[in-house]
Amino acid sequence: MAAKSGVNPAISLWTGPLGLPDFATIDDGDFEAAFAAALPAHLAEIDAIANNAEDATFENTIVAMERAGELLTRTSGIFWNLTGANANKTLQALERKLAPELSRHRSAITMNRALFSRIDALYQNKETLDLDAEADRVLERKWKSFVRAGAKLNPSDQTRLAAINERLAELGTAFSQNILADESEYALVLETSDDLAGMPDSLISSMRAAAVERSHKDGYAVTLSRSIIEPFLTFSERRDLRETAFKAWVARGESAGARDNRPLVAETVKLRAEKAALLGYESFAHFKLDDTMAKTPENVRALLETMWGKARDRAAEEAAELSRLIAEAGYNHDVAPWDWRHYAGKARAARYDFNEAEIKPYLQLEKIIEAAFHTAETLFGISFRKHDGVQTYHPDVRVFEALDANGERLAIFLGDYFARPSKRSGAWMSEFQEQHKLSLGHNNVGQTPIVVNVMNFAKAPPGEPVLITMDDAKTLFHEFGHALHGMLSDVTYPSISGTSVSRDFVELPSQLYEHWLTVPETLQRFAVHHHTGEAIPQVLLDRMRAAEKFNKGFANVEFTSSALVDMAFHSLDPEQAANIDPMAFQAKILAELQMPSAIAMRHATPHFAHVFSGDGYSAGYYSYMWSGVLDADAFKAFEEAGDSFDTTTAAKLRRYIYSSGGSMDPEDAYKAFRGRLPSPDALLEKEGLA
Ligand SMILES: [Zn+2]
Repeated sequence: MAAKSGVNPAISLWTGPLGLPDFATIDDGDFEAAFAAALPAHLAEIDAIANNAEDATFENTIVAMERAGELLTRTSGIFWNLTGANANKTLQALERKLAPELSRHRSAITMNRALFSRIDALYQNKETLDLDAEADRVLERKWKSFVRAGAKLNPSDQTRLAAINERLAELGTAFSQNILADESEYALVLETSDDLAGMPDSLISSMRAAAVERSHKDGYAVTLSRSIIEPFLTFSERRDLRETAFKAWVARGESAGARDNRPLVAETVKLRAEKAALLGYESFAHFKLDDTMAKTPENVRALLETMWGKARDRAAEEAAELSRLIAEAGYNHDVAPWDWRHYAGKARAARYDFNEAEIKPYLQLEKIIEAAFHTAETLFGISFRKHDGVQTYHPDVRVFEALDANGERLAIFLGDYFARPSKRSGAWMSEFQEQHKLSLGHNNVGQTPIVVNVMNFAKAPPGEPVLITMDDAKTLFHEFGHALHGMLSDVTYPSISGTSVSRDFVELPSQLYEHWLTVPETLQRFAVHHHTGEAIPQVLLDRMRAAEKFNKGFANVEFTSSALVDMAFHSLDPEQAANIDPMAFQAKILAELQMPSAIAMRHATPHFAHVFSGDGYSAGYYSYMWSGVLDADAFKAFEEAGDSFDTTTAAKLRRYIYSSGGSMDPEDAYKAFRGRLPSPDALLEKEGLA
């Protein structure tokens, strides 16, 4: 690629070790010039394709589009990873500026009439093109994505749709930045030993490290990172402190003033309803689901409602048990949301003789990372080689090379495991570079993926091992499952690479991977005590397994209520969505559902980033449960084979699920792996709710 004037070549050509960008020579200020050059360069390429005097062919139109925009792809690849994992004021200011610009850029492409008429001509005549299955799928996906983006609308509707998209992009960025600000500013600093009553040493260490990171000379910080707030709510004996911390946690995004997400939600819901109507759909949920495995809101509701009734009944039984424990402890109060985790922990201890703190000494972050690698080695024959001293965007980031069975480089994997104030909460996988096999100017062999897992584990003090909870370990396996979906991708075209699949299919590779954390082969070898090196005792595992069935009512109520509220917001028509008060609407939906008062939504509306920080999981939070049906059933294939690592089943899993990206229809891909589609029974059984 020719150097564009003013563009730092470290952004346009990745010349660092292992094909990474040379992060040392990239300044935050460089991105503005890079985007300023990349956007018009991409549009010029698109115009050349649209105005090509030759008739449209798959090669001169679809493949040319797949190749176009390399500078934009490279700049975006670095920039969006940084805004998530290592943001600062400069990057955030540019992020706000870019959100509407990029939206306009996308509209300029999808609403380019000359371009769409070429795509449409190919699509209408696709039987005559003699395409292979993957190319055929790319053409179909491209055509559909243009139609869904408004390619067939009349010019005035297109103008309105472009304006809506632009505003939605601004709203999503502001929503996300507000949450990050609320999270990074908050810390409840505890000072006396009285304040620490009930808390295990490992949590106290993590809170000390968090206090130091936030420049508190003394004390212990309760932050809103899940790795700290959840164990704090579980272990702290101080009901007053639990209440304070819990209320801060659930109030993210809801503070009056400049960072208030509530008006942003109201406007987002209204604009999404209008957008869906412009595109000819009853509601935004109908629009979104039309391009998923679930297909309709009715199918989604059927699954969620099946779960809701069972989960709520189970949660009522659990609440009764917690009330008994509160009374036994000599208190006279109802179960409040800041009590639930605490007494659920006690109930587990009482009923199953199990305390989460007993497990933690066996769960060393380093060993669990090894376990995730080892599982991939056993299932797929790949291996991981660590590269020390490679500079990335932050010193905490580790760099690995993934090698296929034949020793060839399959991917680069970055592990960014620790919380810091510049990082969004939660855990995710994303890519700097995605796998494909197209030739691009300077690179004629396609490209290997560069994948990152970002997590928010609490650091241990220097010299001590980082111990994590079972939930943290599951999160690590979950995100590594997504990472494998990117790393094992084996397709020709970028637009269907890796995780570019239907939203309700994308959680299958990740949730399925969690199953291998708790198989005996993994735990015996990797869940070893950090002092003695002894494997976790079988009796402790048995008690943990039994205890896992407890609190499934709570977990499913937390999740399903959020998914149902998401569906409710996005099932409104434009008239219903106008002038909505998001908190009143949320309260109304929860009242209709008879939401238990002792349980809060897993993500309340003002910080429901899955749904409101962008389009991603809007009318799509259900996807975890939909994929849950798939993963529960998919793991049964290994159980039926009598071996959690059965090679024949693993080979099919790699081929149809982890490697095929979006090259197959998700239903077809699942059937190719399993021979049939699943029913929800396996999930209900797994959750103990059958
Ligand atoms: Zn996931």
